Amino acid sequence: MMSSASGAQALVARFGDVLLRRQAAIRRLQWAMVAIYAGLLTVPLLLPLPTHTDYVWNNAVRFAQFVFWGVWWPFIILATALVGRFWCGILCPEGALSEFASQRGAGRAIPGWMKWSGWPVVSFVSTTIYGQLTSIYQYPKPAALLLGGSSFAAIVIGARYGKAKRVWCRFLCPVNGIFGIVSKIAPLHFRVDPDGWRAGARQEGRSNAVNCAPLIPIKTMQGAAACHMCGRCSGYRGAIRLSWRNPASDIVHGSGRLATMWETVLIVPVLLGLVPAALHWSDSGLFQMIRLWLVERCLDLHLVWPLSLRLPWWILTDYPLENDVMTSVDAAALLVLLSVSVAAATIVFGIPLAACARIFRTRGPFSHHLAQALIPLAAACLFSGLLSLTVSQLRSDGVVIPYSDLFRGGLVLAAAAWSMVLVFRIGAHYNAHRVTRLCGTFIMALPITSFSIAWVAVFLS
Ligand code: SF4
Repeated sequence: MMSSASGAQALVARFGDVLLRRQAAIRRLQWAMVAIYAGLLTVPLLLPLPTHTDYVWNNAVRFAQFVFWGVWWPFIILATALVGRFWCGILCPEGALSEFASQRGAGRAIPGWMKWSGWPVVSFVSTTIYGQLTSIYQYPKPAALLLGGSSFAAIVIGARYGKAKRVWCRFLCPVNGIFGIVSKIAPLHFRVDPDGWRAGARQEGRSNAVNCAPLIPIKTMQGAAACHMCGRCSGYRGAIRLSWRNPASDIVHGSGRLATMWETVLIVPVLLGLVPAALHWSDSGLFQMIRLWLVERCLDLHLVWPLSLRLPWWILTDYPLENDVMTSVDAAALLVLLSVSVAAATIVFGIPLAACARIFRTRGPFSHHLAQALIPLAAACLFSGLLSLTVSQLRSDGVVIPYSDLFRGGLVLAAAAWSMVLVFRIGAHYNAHRVTRLCGTFIMALPITSFSIAWVAVFLS
């Protein structure tokens, strides 16, 4: 009789095969997503800005804001953590457009500059900062510019490089790095069996190759970080199956061991430094202090223009009729706050990580493998921070979700506990002594606990 574990494996493997067989239906679904996405971006541009009597359910602008920032963005992150990057492979309109353009495009070779592994950090950081400077969550014009611009770039890159590939998604998409990091804790992945691959190769010879749009060398694929879960390789050579896995396995034993500096940058200064500050700067007392200090310095120096200088909406928020204008001093204060947060996260987590690496005697003075232990905390921080947008938008319309703050707080604390367990487990790769591993875990527990308590306090304040 089949055990429940193997029954569950067989069930998800069958789902992978369904994806393979239903590629035409997936393509239709993607075009439906393109139409919805285009509608949500463009319709609000044609309408006046909402007033205080407009709600999510009776105003298209508010509705589009809520769908983009209150539902779409936070729940894609959650789904990626729970089931992997199905969003990218099955539903993402930008990926679909880029691949469509690539099918009919010039098919040029991918230039070397595009393969630089720092792009996921640069593109995510620059779009996050730009979005805050232009108030992307509040107004349709910056949302259309940033999201529409990104989609346009995806089409252009698709039309120039690769043949039926997603070159944009693989190398330049602003959220590719984040999705890759978050998907490492997903319990689902397409597992490659090297022995099965060799046996399948002998039996089949040169069978039809799979078109893996995000350009993954499938035979040597490790983990799920780069895989878009499109299902096209399901069952290939009898060696690839959609499978359940232990959610910690990729970090502890798999691709986590091959982690790079850029992944650590995404996890520590970006997800644990930049993101919390970018999501909560308007309520920050530190932001007000920095702003006041800058105003006083300007007045001391008899510089009045930075206090009143307004720039167009596509550079800084400029909606005087809404009483919402960001001056150059406000922008400077925001940039200082974000820099302080990035520096604080780097120091607060970087020093214990280096100390832990020394205790565990990892290769080199710093271990990027150890930094991967912070992924659950970073993912929970991102999801719970984005959920603030959902909660605050609904709250402003009089809809209160009970226990949402407690749920977010509990999630962050549970993720923090998981990160500490991961430090202990990763330590086993470097030092077999339980006491030494406990010492390292205790060192990492200090920043993890302090950060979690500070972040939870933001929700509950
Ligand atoms: S490895 Fe490539 S083809 Fe296979 S599911 Fe992932 S993205 Fe699709």
